[in-house]
Amino acid sequence: MALIGVDIGGTKISVGVLVGEPQHLVSKVIEPTPQAGWQAVLDQVVVQVQQLRSQYPKTRAVGVGVPGPPNFAKGEVRFAPNIPGFVDVPLVHYLTEQLGLPVALENDANAAGLAEAVLGAAKGTSSSIFITVSTGIGGGICIRDRVWHGHNGIAGEVGHVIALQGAAVSGVGQSGALEAIASGRAIARDVSFALGREISTKEAFDLAQSGNRVAKAVVDNALYFIGRMLGDLQKVFDPEVFVLGGGVAEVGDYFFEAVQAAATTSAGGFAPVQIRRAQMGYDAGVIGAALSARP
Ligand code: ADP
Repeated sequence: MALIGVDIGGTKISVGVLVGEPQHLVSKVIEPTPQAGWQAVLDQVVVQVQQLRSQYPKTRAVGVGVPGPPNFAKGEVRFAPNIPGFVDVPLVHYLTEQLGLPVALENDANAAGLAEAVLGAAKGTSSSIFITVSTGIGGGICIRDRVWHGHNGIAGEVGHVIALQGAAVSGVGQSGALEAIASGRAIARDVSFALGREISTKEAFDLAQSGNRVAKAVVDNALYFIGRMLGDLQKVFDPEVFVLGGGVAEVGDYFFEAVQAAATTSAGGFAPVQIRRAQMGYDAGVIGAALSARP
């Protein structure tokens, strides 16, 4: 059985085929995301899916990961902040009609978390919370090998939890959301301000690790807030593991040690916070989208 996964991003659409046992990605087509409204985006998805489907005629279903909040009951996407005109998109209906295949809808961070839960760092666990520390901060909750969507479909939006009232304002206009304090973009913003010149996130961590006191104050603050969030989530959800990924987690040991220390303190002895490094890399979104289309 083959499943096709689609990862719709702000700049590119990646489509791949998941086959075999153990399941693995065999073919991928990547094209730029059209910037001319949702229909143009979905028509581009159709082109890429058909291209792969002709190579894998036994494709059973298509799963689509989107960078915004889905309305799961309606099979629609409410909006995707980074794609112009991607608002109130009847995604499942439109693609099912065009493709004649079952279509599943998933949020992109949930999809990446699902890939980790089924095939990656959280494989075999009873529950996991995935967090991607990227340009923003996203997350997904899995119970065994299924995503927990919540009542309204927003479960897992860790980046939008208010971590410090009065701190920076997020893209949805709320003050002190975790991603406004501790995402890659927030770290670059704060180090740039403090040092008075443009600094990338990677540069900020390089400076911190080479002893720059100002850069270290900023990145350590960000990692503290991420770790503290994990300790809080442990008390609420008590997952077996957390899986951390995304571009900022590429920093490696420095990132994971600081986050673990803050998480352990924040958990306050209720339970150990088990943190694992994401394993699925850049294909997590496509693989997880395909997995979301499993029967
Ligand atoms: P996206 O946000 O597009 O999903 P990523 O998960 O790759 O993509 O995250 C991008 C963020 O990660 C950016 O803020 C970038 O500066 C930062 N980043 C990428 N690589 C590194 C690195 N090696 N060290 C620190 N930050 C990094």
